Amino acid sequence: MVDGEFELIDRHFRALGAPRTDVVLGVGDDGAILRPPPAHDLIAVSDTLVEGVHFPVGSAPRSIGHRSLAVNLSDVAAMGATPAWALLSLTLPARDDRWLADFARGFATLASRHEVALVGGDTTRGPLAIGVQVLGFVPQGRGLRRTGGRPGDQIYVSGTPGDAAAGLEIVRDVSSARDATTRDATTRDATTCEFLRARFEYPTPRLTLGAALRDVASACIDVSDGLAGDVGKLAAASGCGARLDVERLRPSAALSRYASPERLRAWMLAGGDDYELVFTVSAANRSRFEQAAREFEWQQIGELVVEPGVTLCEHGRRIDLSAASFDHFG
Ligand code: ADP
Ligand code: MG
Repeated sequence: MVDGEFELIDRHFRALGAPRTDVVLGVGDDGAILRPPPAHDLIAVSDTLVEGVHFPVGSAPRSIGHRSLAVNLSDVAAMGATPAWALLSLTLPARDDRWLADFARGFATLASRHEVALVGGDTTRGPLAIGVQVLGFVPQGRGLRRTGGRPGDQIYVSGTPGDAAAGLEIVRDVSSARDATTRDATTRDATTCEFLRARFEYPTPRLTLGAALRDVASACIDVSDGLAGDVGKLAAASGCGARLDVERLRPSAALSRYASPERLRAWMLAGGDDYELVFTVSAANRSRFEQAAREFEWQQIGELVVEPGVTLCEHGRRIDLSAASFDHFG
């Protein structure tokens, strides 16, 4: 506890998020008392955002508040679980009430949308960093894992990966000089930029999709570090490899207006921060999957294979991971 911390917590972080009857005791005591529902497994996730590492220095505080919770909710979604309670460990260089109010608003809006209650945390002084833990539930024994995929299972991704990487570039306002050659012949109007920017600053955790996949997907992971890499993690955890059919990747309309085909392909495959779900479905579950996921946006992008590692194919022909499009990532 630092000087004035109690008043700071009271002003910005008490009763934040959704009121829940399973919070027996929330912010204010040494610990929270929480009442998990019977016949459920508890799911626990944690993720930290550090200024200058996970978001650019000087980012909008409302976006930082949103993202610090969203990245955790995305992990909860990847487990097929429903979030309930959050803890917030805040390291602040100095007290700034306007910054805190905007940060709390970003956090609270997303928390309320998913009925998450903030039940405790910690506040310390130091370089700006936000650690969040979320607890949630899943019906006993039904949590999704990375490990259940088998060769032959089809690989899917929700939404349109790649947008957030473009959004981050826009946020950083990279000088147009550097990329002038690759950005030619693309329209970068304000609406396009706003859309892509929001995809980085205000990602949507795919919680309803994750829950719908519970008895349908063989494995699931969320895309935080880039599609190809995270597909590779799922495949490795499942004891197999993956083939990605890159011609299947459908960019968002905004991304195809914003970037050349080559750059957007690199972003779709290797850009981070999308917080979409990658999941696999066996042939036996395919029609159940299509039924369960009909109201969601997803694309089929490849297949789990026996040979370890991630192979990129274009119209059935193998292409090199270190192909030209990846040079953007140095
Ligand atoms: P302790 O001294 O027991 O570690 P603190 O004084 O750090 O407790 O915190 C007092 C109460 O405020 C606790 O209930 C704690 O969970 C809560 N709290 C502290 N910081 C935050 C925060 N950033 N967001 C939400 N709750 C917080
Ligand atoms: Mg204490």
